[in-house]
Parts: sequence; C-alpha cells; structure tokens
Amino acid sequence: MSKQSASTLFPTYGRYPITIVKGKGSRLWDENGKSYLDLMSGLAVTGLGHSPEGIKQKLVEQLDELWHVSNLFHVPQQEKVAQMLVDNSCADRVFFCNSGAEANEAAIKLARRYHQKVLGTGKYEIITFHQSFHGRTLATLTATGQDKVKDGFLPLPEGFVYAPYNDVEVLEKTISDQTCAIMLEMVQAEGGVIEADKDFITEVARLCKQYNLLLIVDEVQTGLGRTGKLFAYEHYGIEPDIFTMAKALGSGFPVGAMLGKEFLADAFTPGSHATTFGGTPIAMAAALATLETIIGDKLSERAAQLGEYILQQLKEKLKDNGLVKEVRGKGLIIGIECAGPVADLIQAIHQQGVLVVPAGPQVIRLLPNLLVTIEELDEGIAVISQVLTAQAAASVS
Ligand SMILES: *Cc1c(COP(=O)(O)O)cnc(C)c1O
Repeated sequence: MSKQSASTLFPTYGRYPITIVKGKGSRLWDENGKSYLDLMSGLAVTGLGHSPEGIKQKLVEQLDELWHVSNLFHVPQQEKVAQMLVDNSCADRVFFCNSGAEANEAAIKLARRYHQKVLGTGKYEIITFHQSFHGRTLATLTATGQDKVKDGFLPLPEGFVYAPYNDVEVLEKTISDQTCAIMLEMVQAEGGVIEADKDFITEVARLCKQYNLLLIVDEVQTGLGRTGKLFAYEHYGIEPDIFTMAKALGSGFPVGAMLGKEFLADAFTPGSHATTFGGTPIAMAAALATLETIIGDKLSERAAQLGEYILQQLKEKLKDNGLVKEVRGKGLIIGIECAGPVADLIQAIHQQGVLVVPAGPQVIRLLPNLLVTIEELDEGIAVISQVLTAQAAASVS
C-alpha cells in the first residue's frame, strides 16, 4: 500500500501549472502575484467578469435572508427568474438545476416522457451530432458525439444515435420510427467552435415538424449573450421546443436551467423529476442579477460588436501565419484553428499572461467576458499573435 500522489483528489483533470487565488473583472492573479488577462472566463462561466459588484450585492442581500429551502415549498425567487427567462425567450416553462449536464439530462427525460406519457408513442431515441458535447453524466456523455468521453464507462444508456453536423441528407436517413427528438448546439463549442449552417438548422426544424420530433438546443455554453444574441438559436429564425443553459447563468454560482414550450408542461408531474439544490434562493439571486445585467445593459449587442472587432483583428494579424488555418467565431466565442496541436501554444500564451483554452486538439478558443474592454482585447490579441508568429517562424527555420 503506497500513497504516491501529492494530491488526494481524483486525477480527473489535466491541470495547467497555475494556481489562481484572486479575480476582478477581466484580471486574475496567481499565488505569486502574477496577473493574467482572462480570455476564457472559467469556460464561459464568468460572463460579467470576476467578482462583479452588482451580483455580489444581490448575493449578500440573499445570504442575509435565506440560503436554502426545499422544493417542497414555494420559492418565489424561482418564479421571478423563470418569468424573466420566459419573457426573453421562446419558452413558457422552466426547470432549475445546478449544471449543464443536469439541464441536458432534464431535457432528455422530458423528451422521452412527453413521447411516452403524453403522446403515447413510446419513442425514446434522440439524434445528436458528431463532435457535440452535452455533459458527463451517463446519459449526457452518451448524447455527446465524442468517443473519448465514453472510454471505460460501458454499458451506456440506450437510445442515442449520431449524425454528422451540418449534413442534411444523412440526418433525414438517421430518423427512425423510434426517434423522439433531435438535440444539438448552434455552435459546437468543445467540438472546435463549429457554427451550424443556416440551411442545416432550417432543415433540422423542418424535419422535426414533419416527423413530430422535439427540437432540443443545448445553449449551455452559447446562451446568455455570448454569441451576440441572448440565445444562439435566435440567429437562425427557429424556436426550439426545449433548450438548456447553465454556464453564465449565475456569474460563477452554479445554476442551470431547462426550458420548454407550454405544450410540454404536463409531461412532468409532481415527483417525475427533481433536484435537492436546483433553484435554491442563493442561486436564484445570482441568476436574477445576472439576467438583469445581461438583458438590461444589452450585453448581447456588445458581444456582437466586440466579437466582430476581435475576429477582424485576429484575421488581419494572422493572415500570413503558416500555422493558422482559420479564425472563426460568433460574438465572443472565437476559435483559431491551427495546422497542428495547440497544447504547447496555449501554455506559451499563458506564460505571456493571457488565459485561453483549447477546443479540441487543434483549436485555440477565446471566451472573453461580455464586459471586456477594447484595450483588454487588444492586449490579448497582441500576445496571441506574437506567440503564434514566433512559433510559425520557429517551424519554418
Ligand atoms: C459545459 C457544457 C455542458 C456541461 O455542463 P456542466 O455544467 O459541465 O455539466 C453541456 N453542454 C455544453 C454545450 C457545454 O459547453
């Protein structure tokens, strides 16, 4: 019996050699006092930057009143946040939970239950897409169209089939007499910042109508202003029957939500789905203040404008870089696709004081907060292009 590891944590993460101890706005500081420009926002979570004053105020007020109450009682804070979400989206009903995976799990359960209990079709199969990411619970990792998240976790739940993203013809052939829903991201984020084609989404929505399938959109990463609209589906002129969100909803406090149309309301009955922590007053205080800020201050529009700026700047600075294959994005989710692996490049960028993350092995992903300034973006763009230019020069010689 030897205990060799220096950590008592399960080694589920490949962690960068940086220990962050403090954050404010777009800045983070490590234990040695070195400061970083944060262009990844804790993976699209801190959409209003670190420790936003307005959200903190509301959290502190709620902490003085009530921390937790069981969902066996009425929770007025949930009604408030749900009303705000419904008023600003195509949905009519909301279920609160604590994470993206849980929101997607609820969506999967609602789709199955609607078909089994309301329509009585017994259909259960959900079509998802290659390179998608929907979470790490058994059902959501099965929904995820990437083999690496399934390795060693057999047997997987039944009822998921996969189609290539942005391929209309194969999609129609994938629909079977057991299909109950199609589930997808409008921009595949973890999968490499890959945007859905407008024609593809139009066709997905048409097929859902034709075959009586539910359209589920995973907005866990794209939602809440990031892509330049409050929800990414708004870019496509469609309305999902169900959509999910999480990451940015609590500005760093864990909270997720699954939203759906009124016709789905009766598919869930008391006792059919639940969570102990979902919609706790503290989470709702964070969500309400976050939504009021994003919606009230029109931060979606700001994300659209800043996104255009950063895309244009990066394209200009990297246009002759032999290492860079493409710069793409929508609002403030941006991918720099490279010709080879980006892991070392990302660490080199970190060393220069700018935090970015990969999206798959060959894409550098930027997820700045929605309040980032042009000056901060310029600082980040300068560092990234400098590191990529140096690397391109080194690979030539
Ligand atoms: C992060 C993410 C999830 C999973 O969210 P967790 O909160 O980590 O469970 C699901 N879908 C998408 C698109 C995501 O980006």
